[in-house]
Amino acid sequence: MTSISVVLGDITKLEVDAIVNAANVSLRGGGGVDGAIHRAAGLGLLEEIIEKYPDGIIVGAALPTFGHKLKAMYVIHTVGPRYYLDGVEHEKLLSDAYRNSIRVANELGCKSIAFPAISTGVYGYPIDEATEIAVRTIREEIAAGTELQEIVFCCFDDANFEAYKNELGL
Ligand code: ADP
Repeated sequence: MTSISVVLGDITKLEVDAIVNAANVSLRGGGGVDGAIHRAAGLGLLEEIIEKYPDGIIVGAALPTFGHKLKAMYVIHTVGPRYYLDGVEHEKLLSDAYRNSIRVANELGCKSIAFPAISTGVYGYPIDEATEIAVRTIREEIAAGTELQEIVFCCFDDANFEAYKNELGL
């Protein structure tokens, strides 16, 4: 049985097996949640990324690193679409980011994972649309089979928090 929950707060503080990073294609860190994760994890995170993934990542894919100074054992780095630039593909690309993150977590043997609201910051995805895609994709992955027991949506602002509670019927 896999539970889905929503919390309001800072994803870097969560005690879960893996936190997901809404990164950019360079994987070298950035603003928003990406910057917060790099700051909290320490320089070892960037060093691991440069060694393992020198070419970065493509939109919608997901790649793991260790969590370094974070409480989480792993960080799963993914990249959501930029709503105004990635065109009609954005719905599929956002769904891919969630789906591929869950699949990486399965491969790592994680029991718990936390997601930020991917693409709803600088990348400009409308919150309600993004939330619907996130919840639908996670439910599809649970139905497809996962060892994950706990999936947490970690919101950093009230608008996202309300949207997730609404979408999850909480
Ligand atoms: P993107 O480029 O994918 O839009 P952002 O980091 O700009 O990524 O924003 C994604 C979401 O992460 C936004 O809803 C933002 O409020 C949220 N966010 C920012 N910092 C944190 C944090 N420390 N913990 C959880 N969520 C955060």
